[in-house]
Amino acid sequence: MAEKDTQVAEIIKLFSLVLKQYRLYSPTHPAAQLAFRNFFTILAESLSGTGNLTFGFMEGQIVVNEEALDRKKTGVGDLLKECQHLHIESLIFEPGVTEAEITALIRVMSIQSKTLQEAGGFKQAFDNEAFQRIRLGTSRYRMIKEEEEVIKKTDLGTVGGEADAEGSAMPRRTVDRMEEVIEHGLTGTENGIDFDIERLSYEVERRPENVARQMVRRADNLESLKRVVQDMGHFLRERLAQPFIQQGKDFSRTVTRLAKEFKKVVESFDTPEDFRGSVKDLVSVLQKCADAVKVELIVRNFEESGRDAKSLAGIKAKFLTSKEARERILAPLKERLLSLGVSEREFDQAFAAEEKPAPKRAQAETGAAEELSELRGLKERYEQEIKTLKGELVRAEGHKERLENIIGSLAEGLVVVDNEGKIQMMNPAAEKLLGMGQTEGLGVPIGQSLKAEHIVALTKGPLLDESNEVTKEIAVQSIDDETRKILQASSAVIENEQGQTVGMVAVLSDVTKQKKLDEMKSKFVAHVSHELRTPLLAIEQSLQILMAKETGAPSPEQEKFLEIAERNISRLSRLVNDLLDVAKIEAGEMKVKPISFKMCDLVHHVVDTVRGWAESKKIKLEERMPAADIEVEADPDRLIQVVTNLLGNAVKFTPDGGKITLEVDPTHREAQISEEPSIAISVQDTGVGIPPEDQERIFRKFEQGNLPPPSEGVGSTGLGLTIAKEIVELHKGKIWVESKPGEGSRFVFVIPRRYRDRTPAVPATA
Ligand code: ADP
Repeated sequence: MAEKDTQVAEIIKLFSLVLKQYRLYSPTHPAAQLAFRNFFTILAESLSGTGNLTFGFMEGQIVVNEEALDRKKTGVGDLLKECQHLHIESLIFEPGVTEAEITALIRVMSIQSKTLQEAGGFKQAFDNEAFQRIRLGTSRYRMIKEEEEVIKKTDLGTVGGEADAEGSAMPRRTVDRMEEVIEHGLTGTENGIDFDIERLSYEVERRPENVARQMVRRADNLESLKRVVQDMGHFLRERLAQPFIQQGKDFSRTVTRLAKEFKKVVESFDTPEDFRGSVKDLVSVLQKCADAVKVELIVRNFEESGRDAKSLAGIKAKFLTSKEARERILAPLKERLLSLGVSEREFDQAFAAEEKPAPKRAQAETGAAEELSELRGLKERYEQEIKTLKGELVRAEGHKERLENIIGSLAEGLVVVDNEGKIQMMNPAAEKLLGMGQTEGLGVPIGQSLKAEHIVALTKGPLLDESNEVTKEIAVQSIDDETRKILQASSAVIENEQGQTVGMVAVLSDVTKQKKLDEMKSKFVAHVSHELRTPLLAIEQSLQILMAKETGAPSPEQEKFLEIAERNISRLSRLVNDLLDVAKIEAGEMKVKPISFKMCDLVHHVVDTVRGWAESKKIKLEERMPAADIEVEADPDRLIQVVTNLLGNAVKFTPDGGKITLEVDPTHREAQISEEPSIAISVQDTGVGIPPEDQERIFRKFEQGNLPPPSEGVGSTGLGLTIAKEIVELHKGKIWVESKPGEGSRFVFVIPRRYRDRTPAVPATA
């Protein structure tokens, strides 16, 4: 059992190693070949002993023939990573699997991601091989993160240029991650590998803690850690440091920093005991490497100066600021420099002689100066950024202030309510109008703020129309000054870019005064009209007595004047009656007194009253009535008013010789006003007609069409249709006009046959 376990562990280790070697080198490389040999031998051996070997790669585990493997064992983590990367869920090897098959498998598994993608993915590549004794299970779900990594790696891979030259006998490989260097124990001297020095040194410089962690992670035991550290030291000194030394840059500081980070990682709690015990030795390997780099740097600088001993003092000041470093490298440095012709005295003068206390900064640890300058650079960048941001802030604040000033100085109140009904903003005018103090309502859900109940009125109620806007009036009773205000609120919904409702803005204006004036005017008109009626009635009656010749016959001339007076009095009293009606409408006092009557009778009666007038204009009057009269329950006096107005207008606006058709239609198909039976009365003329833009307007108070009425002394006030409309609507009916200028007009009104107070009104449309 234990033996079998170790065998499996060995297989995994070699499997992972083969893949690594294949990726790093070419399959023909001796290192790859050796790894492959070992792997195949042990695999074949194991298969002949145990039968099928099933490798499952799931949930962060490798399971071999149902046994999960310890993740800490060599190669387990790596192989798992490889297989997850390729979305391999399981691999089944059967006894008798050939060397060629395993070679093919390893080849397919180590194809570069980019090439693999182009080939249609691993599964496709695997299927193409038509394996006899290897079976594959692929995972259905791809890990997004790994996907990204593939892309990243492919990107980096192209930097190396020829790296992807699949199929060439010995493709060169570009190593551009320290992880690979550590993984393969590279020392920088390998053949067939290019090193992306820029990237690698950048990684050591910027991410020393990562590199250190990878080093420790790579090692299975103290021996291998020592090797890792040795290899790393070698790699840094021989490979990475070289270009820096050539450029006169001090790479030793980077190495020292890595040594420090490495020390931290080794000393952290989760490393094996013996790692921690040897930390000093391990770190000193790296430190020695740093020192060697420094020595080389100084030597190179000295050579560059033309081996001028006088340059040594300057070199020291530049690269040997730390006493500690000086002590460490003095001996090897001396050896090197003396061999280059520096005399002992010259060397001591420059390096060994106890110098006067250097300025504090110079005494700082190696690297401090560089760190400082790095920090300075950072600081400058941040300061620049802060400056830019500050500028933007000032601009934004200016903008905000301007907006606030504008909003603040608006005479109209402005209230912004968010989606949850919380008041987000209100300007001083709104606060005053609503009697709320500053901040009193801010952020408070309108339901929780008593005073904000008015705003509830704004946000609720008659639903917003299609344009998401509505104007309404609300009465505000202020508690302190006991005055009542009428506010007109125009509200609009605020939508975000996605069209979602995020709140509402309401503009409030105080219309109290306007309302009061309106009221006063209506009262005045009602009062005056009423006062006029009494004397008018007296005059009318007196005239009638005179004309009835009850007080003696007037002369023909007197009779003529009496007729003029009578005509004008009746006009005047019609006007006064209209005004009184309008006043009643405005006060909401116009009432319907419904009784039963016959509609055709009523209409016929009205036609009779205008017949004389129509005949005087040679206008033909036609009545179209149903065979049987229609019984209607309504206010006949009011309906007489309506029909008289429509008929009078028709006569008034129809030129001589025209035609007026009056129709009572109990089966009309005009706008249905309710489910109940209704009746339509229409007056059609051949008059001047009404342009479309006026067809609604003429129903409003004092509004007249643009075409002047034919001058024939018939007075007009623009009140008739207003009153007619009101009367029809009081009957829960509808009135409208259809007309084409020049061709005549047709006024229609429809009312229910039974007057019902509770029948809902239908809004009138033109
Ligand atoms: P008035 O007739 O007193 O001016 P109305 O309210 O009855 O007031 O009519 C308003 C306006 O509608 C009229 O001034 C006229 O311009 C227009 N109008 C009404 N009836 C007709 C019609 N049959 N033909 C053309 N225009 C009409």
